[in-house]
Amino acid sequence: MRIVVLAKPVPDAGQERLRNDFRMDREATTEVINGNDEYALEAALKLVEASPDGGEVVLLAMAPDHAQETLRKGLALGAASAVLVTDPALEGSCALTTAHVLAAALRELSFDLVIAGVDTSDGGGGVVAAGVAALLGLPYLSYAARIEPSDGRVRVRRITPNGYEVLEAPMPALISATQALGAPRYPTLKGIMGARRKEIVIRTLADLDLAGARARGVEVGGAAATARVTGSRPRAPRGTPKVVQGSPAEAAQEVVTFLAERRLI
Ligand SMILES: Cc1cc2nc3c(=O)[nH]c(=O)nc-3n(C[C@H](O)[C@H](O)[C@H](O)COP(=O)(O)OP(=O)(O)OC[C@H]3O[C@@H](n4cnc5c(N)ncnc54)[C@H](O)[C@@H]3O)c2cc1C
Repeated sequence: MRIVVLAKPVPDAGQERLRNDFRMDREATTEVINGNDEYALEAALKLVEASPDGGEVVLLAMAPDHAQETLRKGLALGAASAVLVTDPALEGSCALTTAHVLAAALRELSFDLVIAGVDTSDGGGGVVAAGVAALLGLPYLSYAARIEPSDGRVRVRRITPNGYEVLEAPMPALISATQALGAPRYPTLKGIMGARRKEIVIRTLADLDLAGARARGVEVGGAAATARVTGSRPRAPRGTPKVVQGSPAEAAQEVVTFLAERRLI
């Protein structure tokens, strides 16, 4: 079983620093692997550990060169190797570029499954995984709460607003992972030491075959971003918290009234 995990380096919580041009100052922030992608990695490691033929997990990221240190955190958890697509021309890229670049990098890899997070804590678009699946013509199974591969097919229990659906598709397939798959493990000292020796393959835009994107009239890179952030302001500070007093019944009534008045229930 060979699984590629799409792992985006993002600023650690509360560390986001925007530059004057509203781009993330990624040099000035401590970066971590996107929270949802850690769940994707954990799910992938468990699938490989449970696979009768064994296998390996490979991390794939599009990020600045300094993200190698962040990817080593994923290697310390048990991924066998990583691929980092990095190029100054990618700075300020949009989600469309990100999807095309990750798809081009995946075309160079062999895999049974690609597992991504549902969304990221910085961009938060929730579209890249579906975009990559569409560009590669892979079955896309989203919001996975359980993943069961067998005999060349994969069955996914998918979270829906009303409960669950069970989806099935042939492999290779792309899955977006939810936190219902189980909490990420902690790195061991042995894992952290071992990560230093694991390979991170560096790819630049020139290394990738993006002819398909160009044939569709899609230019990749920050200069071709389909959208631009032209303003940003911090969220308004929260108001003073309201303390509910009285007996449990009175308190419950007060909470219900509060929520109903604001049409939250
Ligand atoms: C400060 C800031 C400024 C921005 N400025 C612009 C702008 O000017 N114009 C514009 O169009 N967009 C801009 N963006 C959005 C940026 O393009 C997206 O963040 C980026 O393309 C990835 O999309 P996403 O984070 O929404 O991913 P999502 O669609 O939320 O990601 C879903 C999943 O895809 C995978 N994935 C996503 N990105 C990567 C990656 N790089 N490497 C590996 N896996 C990945 C992960 O598994 C992730 O969980 C900006 C974002 C930020 C934070």
